[in-house]
Parts: sequence; structure tokens; C-alpha cells
Amino acid sequence: MKIHKLMIPGPVDILDDVRETMASPSVPHYGREWMAIYQETIELLRQVFQTRNDLFLLAGPGSAGLDAALGSLLRTGEKVLVPSNGLFGSRLADIARCYGLEVVLLEFPAGQPVDPAAVRACLNVERDVQAVAMVHHETSTGVLNPLREVAALAHAQGLPIIVDAIASIGGLPVPVDEWGLDVVATVANKCLETPPAVAPISVSERAWKVMDSKPGRHHGWYLSLDTWREYARSWADWHPYPTTLPTHNIMALRVGLKRILANGIENHYAKHVRAAGRVRAGLHEMGFELFVAGEYACSLITSVEARPEFEVDDLARFLRDEHGILIGGGIAELRGKIFRVGHMGRAASDEYVEAFLVAVKDFLRRAGLA
Ligand SMILES: *Cc1c(COP(=O)(O)O)cnc(C)c1O
Repeated sequence: MKIHKLMIPGPVDILDDVRETMASPSVPHYGREWMAIYQETIELLRQVFQTRNDLFLLAGPGSAGLDAALGSLLRTGEKVLVPSNGLFGSRLADIARCYGLEVVLLEFPAGQPVDPAAVRACLNVERDVQAVAMVHHETSTGVLNPLREVAALAHAQGLPIIVDAIASIGGLPVPVDEWGLDVVATVANKCLETPPAVAPISVSERAWKVMDSKPGRHHGWYLSLDTWREYARSWADWHPYPTTLPTHNIMALRVGLKRILANGIENHYAKHVRAAGRVRAGLHEMGFELFVAGEYACSLITSVEARPEFEVDDLARFLRDEHGILIGGGIAELRGKIFRVGHMGRAASDEYVEAFLVAVKDFLRRAGLA
């Protein structure tokens, strides 16, 4: 397969230490030696999540964590409030409906943040809502939602909050304990800069209380958080999870996390801010308009308005074929209307940022626009 510079909103390009770890020999997913690796990975993740909550490593995409969260916290027929401003917000609603939940979908326009005042008003009317579920960084547009405020509103009503932090944890501060975030799902292949297939998920004391207060089994077995807690207790010393784990991916995640934390997590956050700043300034200079307004524009991707002089697809194809750079397009109703540039992983490096700006300039020049 041709190798490109990945400047898409995930997966991201990985560094050599992680790549080499993926090529290491097989090890069993249990026993003393493995347990040391596993426990260290959990502790490193707790630092990134800023939590002392229980933390599990589901094998699967980030969505596995969202399935587990919604299916475990809520029973069929219960109501969940989903404030949504994009594709991944409606995905949360879809997952909830698949578990037989009643979804109160509170929609906001794409490119605009969720409005806490509207969430408050909705919670005041919908008295039988049992949980709130929201995306933090809505990657379909690059909007960073006001998670802290929405979490506080949920808690004021005694409700737990489920967070899709798939494209935010590790890339910017998400203080899980300070904000009281109850179930937080992420994945290895975005801001954690490692290959896909590991989905870390944290579960608060309040979330366990909610689950324990409801009679009957949770949905399913593998994606039931109850199952994971059961094995964490009963097989604690040698195999504290219900199934085989993707050991290579977890070893790679450990290596990536160690590097990120050794370099300083603040520096990791800052590199995205810097890369986003450079990309936005460069695009602005070339006559592009950003799709998301300043305050809510997440540092982890930049979404840019299409221009009347050319198709977004033509720009994306040119960057790929002539410069070996992959960017993301708009999805669903935003197809052809925006393009998205990722700043996660190696995309945040000076090398990638410079290559991208040079390539866009080259496109404009050849199109007679610069
Ligand atoms: C990438 C992404 C997802 C989907 O993650 P998968 O690993 O493909 O399941 C969900 N939500 C957000 C916000 C994302 O950025």
C-alpha cells in the first residue's frame, strides 16, 4: 500500500518506537510478566485521563466503548438526552436506539457548539431522563463542546454523563475526576498516537451506583461493564478482564503513553495548538475561511470552507497524488462544503504542517488562483 502523510482526523501516523513494538514477538495476555505491562498501561492512562476511576481496555474501535457505556448504564425503555451537533452526536443517538433506549435528541447546527442553556431547559422539561450522553470534540466539524458545563448540568439533576472523548482525550485537557465525568470512552488511534483496536474506558463510582441500582442484567456480555468489573475482581491477580486482549496494541499503547508523558503532557497539548495555529494562519493568508469560529474551534483538527473556484475533492486528490498528503472531506450534508485537516499524531510536526501549506499553495498556483 502506498504510504501517505496522514493529515486526516484519525487514524494518525505513528512514531518508530510504536511501530517497532507492533513487530515484537507474541506474549500471552495473562501471567505475572504480562500483568506488569498491563497494570503500567492502566496507570499511564489514568494520568492522561486525570482519574482514579476504574479503567478498562476494551478490544475494538472507540465505538465499542460507546456501546458499552450506553448498554450498561441504561435499561431498555429508559430515556437518554443526547445534545448533538454533528455526525458523531447522531451516532451516539443511533447506538442508544439500538439498545432500545428512548433518545431525546437536542440538535444544534453543524459548526456550532452545544448550548448549555438549551441543555438546562431540556433537562427541566424532560424529568424522566436517566443519563446525558455527549461528544466532546465533534470530529465531523472540529467543534469542541462545552463538556464541563454540560456535565455540571447533568450532575445538578443527579444524572450521570457519558462522554465520547474519542478525539479529545490525550490531545487536550480532559480532567475526568475534576469534572466528574462518569463514563469516558476513547480510542488508541487518535490523540494517543498508536494503532487502532484498543478502546480505553473509565467508569466512575457514580456510574457503578447507577448500574447497581437497576435490577436485572445489563445488555450483552462482552460489552457489559458489569462483566469487566466482575473479572477485574475475581481474576484480579492474573487475568482481570473477560477475554483475550490485543497484546501488541497494548504494548504499543504503553510505549506511546510513556513517551508522551515523559515529554510532558502539556507539551503534547501545546503541539496541537501550535500546529493548528500555523495551518489556520497559512490557510487564511491563502484566502480560505475557517468553518468553526474561534473559541470553539478544537486544536485537534481544522475544518475549512470550500471555495467557489474549485471542488474540495479536486484539492484532496491533488494533495494525495502530487504531494502524498491525505486530508479529510466533509461527511454527509457537509460533503463538498468543507475539508478537514488533522493535527493529531505526526500531523502536528513542523514537517507535515510545512508540507501541507506548500502543497495547498502549489494547488492554488496551478489552478491560477495564487
Ligand atoms: C473517530 C471518532 C469516532 C469513531 O471511532 P471508531 O474508533 O471508528 O469507533 C467516534 N466519535 C468521535 C468523536 C470520533 O472522532
